[in-house]
Amino acid sequence: MQYKGVLRKMKTELTSQVQYFMEFEDDFIHMNQLLNREVGITFIGYQCLNCGKDKKIYRQGFCYDCFYDTPRAGDWIMKPELSKAHLDEEDRDLEYEKKVQLQPHIVYLANSSNVKVGVTRKSQVPTRWIDQGAHEAIEIVEVPNRYLAGIAEVALKPHISDKTNWRTMLKNEIEDVNLEEKRDELKQYLPDEVQEYFLASNKETEIEFPVLEYPKKLKSLNLDKKPEYKGKLKGIKGQYLIFEDDTVFNVRSNEGYKVNLEVLVD
Ligand SMILES: [Zn+2]
Repeated sequence: MQYKGVLRKMKTELTSQVQYFMEFEDDFIHMNQLLNREVGITFIGYQCLNCGKDKKIYRQGFCYDCFYDTPRAGDWIMKPELSKAHLDEEDRDLEYEKKVQLQPHIVYLANSSNVKVGVTRKSQVPTRWIDQGAHEAIEIVEVPNRYLAGIAEVALKPHISDKTNWRTMLKNEIEDVNLEEKRDELKQYLPDEVQEYFLASNKETEIEFPVLEYPKKLKSLNLDKKPEYKGKLKGIKGQYLIFEDDTVFNVRSNEGYKVNLEVLVD
């Protein structure tokens, strides 16, 4: 079977195991069904997720010009504390920023390789955790806008990591942590204006990924350097496809890449 389309991060559904879907213009592929099958990926060009042009992708699926222009790539996306829509102040497009920033946001703890703090829109729970490959996570604060979530995260950073190690996550060298205990420990560091939004009694969410075999070493597939690859799919975790020969492919960091996807059916 042959599919062709522009990569975007996979859609997910949390059931007993995470279900993954690749969405192309004309196809919708249930990736879990490709496990244990030979899958070929061939790079055929770029398609910027904003302007649609065949220009080299710079970051987050956007070409260089769009990355510095589209409101969907403003600094406040990676640094929520820079959000200003609640002050009626524009960064790139106030209407868009109000729509995204002025809605309930969650500060969470997620454990993928270590426990980290993060921020996401409430509507993105548990999607965000799945995308990070977290095997457990918990909401610790729910605030009415992105700015408050951002300053809560900044206040917690000296006390807990805000990064994950994707190699550790993919090799599944993980440990279980009691996130409810961690949450209670961290409460004292939340800024005063966020204290009232603390979630004292949420339970951990456990996430199981469809992985038959974890990689021992890791070779990251880079389509710019190696435009053709074929391998047997052994698992999916976070936004990574894991192959039998220890190759891993980060779908998310290849957003905007146009590919042929070939599935060998036996
Ligand atoms: Zn563009």
